[in-house]
Amino acid sequence: MTKHIFVTGGVVSSLGKGLTSASIGLLLERRGFTVRLQKLDPYLNVDPGTMSPYQHGEVYVLDDGTETDLDLGHYERFTHAVLNKDCNYTTGKIYLSVIEKERRGDYRGKTVQVIPHVTDEIKSCIRKVAAPGVDVVITEIGGTVGDIEGMPYYEAIRQYALDVGKNNCLFVHLTLVPYLKAAGELKTKPTQRSVRDLREIGIQPDVLICRTEREIPNDECEKIALFCNVERNAVIEEKDKEFSIYEVPLSLAQNKLDELIVEKLSLTQAKPLDMSDWRTMLDRMRAPAHEVTIGFVGKYVKHRDAYKSVYESLDHAGIAHHAKVRVVRIESDKLADEGAPQALANVDGLLIPGGFDKRGIEGKIEAIKFARETGLPFFGICLGLQCATIEFARHIGLENANSTEFDKASPHPVVCLLEEQEGITNLGGTQRLGAYPCHLKPNTKARAAFGVDVISERHRHRYEVNNKYRERLQARGMLFSGTSPDGGLVEAIELKDHPWFVGVQSHPEFQSKPTKPHPLFRDFIGASLERRLRKTVVTR
Ligand code: GLN
Repeated sequence: MTKHIFVTGGVVSSLGKGLTSASIGLLLERRGFTVRLQKLDPYLNVDPGTMSPYQHGEVYVLDDGTETDLDLGHYERFTHAVLNKDCNYTTGKIYLSVIEKERRGDYRGKTVQVIPHVTDEIKSCIRKVAAPGVDVVITEIGGTVGDIEGMPYYEAIRQYALDVGKNNCLFVHLTLVPYLKAAGELKTKPTQRSVRDLREIGIQPDVLICRTEREIPNDECEKIALFCNVERNAVIEEKDKEFSIYEVPLSLAQNKLDELIVEKLSLTQAKPLDMSDWRTMLDRMRAPAHEVTIGFVGKYVKHRDAYKSVYESLDHAGIAHHAKVRVVRIESDKLADEGAPQALANVDGLLIPGGFDKRGIEGKIEAIKFARETGLPFFGICLGLQCATIEFARHIGLENANSTEFDKASPHPVVCLLEEQEGITNLGGTQRLGAYPCHLKPNTKARAAFGVDVISERHRHRYEVNNKYRERLQARGMLFSGTSPDGGLVEAIELKDHPWFVGVQSHPEFQSKPTKPHPLFRDFIGASLERRLRKTVVTR
């Protein structure tokens, strides 16, 4: 029978429930169990696909095309769990389904209510993930205990534990133990308060994970245990990580969280924990032999989480080369004022991530021009590929070439709407989404990076290189190194006479892990590092 772990958060948001859930997943996988992870988000949007990255950070995409919360990125980077559309539900999605059922008459005239109809719907979403062969489902509840919008979820998980038996469920509560400088003390009251909130709605947490800046002394842990009605060994300290998020699972393991879960859920046949490869990965990160600087030109560079997976993937690629990757974030609409030569003077590579909307496009194009002309390694992702195509088209004399996303009247629409997208007016979940295969041409940078002929990458776009211009671009040195299997869609571009200039229509950042860097990020950082080392030799 599948066991369940419910991860809730208290006191404040941003405590790292996603990372903690992912870390629990990783520890259990390494103890030999098959895990699934799921996030339930209490907001009313049906999915995060139409939410601004400013508000909500990056929109993550799964193989099956589901647009999800960025926490699912942590789940995938930390574990091997297979994630699909059942792994991220929002209140919007839950209510949509309930209302559709009501319209169809499924409730047979009953008054439709939060309890039991909405809570039943939530429980059925949890049940869907508990498939045969899954040992443990980890369900993270977004938001903070006490939020009005979260109430149906807490009620649903309370009921769920009753349905499947309390012994098959574990409530893990993540809380904050703040340090008050003026008093010189760690304070346990907010934790007591948030646990009281949980207990009021019928949930007694089994494990408390306490986020803290400082070590929590034993007597404070005992106090938390006593006031919150948990065992002392179930009060787990999670001290802030100064170095890397990838330290979190190691510190939780050090505090014996995996042991505690195995015991409390009576998980049998647990293997001993082996974290050696994870440790090696972190050791490499801690002691880099080189440093490389990447210019990152995007619209939302001020927001820490807007390009989360891209930043993570750059770090992973750095690990592969024993290099510390420094990212210089450049706001695209400011770049046009400053000029690319100034803005990119000290970088070893240029990355243009995905994006939408006209703002900042000319700055990106200018940066790409600089990279093309100076041999600066360039990696373009989705919009990055599209901008590189526009830049190259203008360079070969197609004046005012553009994407119809930015200029409908462009005389040379080298990037245009995908045929299947014409006539779509509803914005939610209607892009070309999810994993599609791509065939790679021999003797190209992309083929060399992947080492295979056919790859599968995740997509999220509406526009595409205009096939009418392919021949003209190709004749002047642009290489279409990857296409859809029928050749109809451009998936990857390169420039022949350039050390490393690659653009992809997909989002490779969704398939990179710290222990398995994505081949394109790896080779991009490799090329950037080579340039850096060459420069260092010359200036010496
Ligand atoms: N706006 C572009 C499109 O829709 C690029 C999308 C992206 O970068 N994800 O095709």
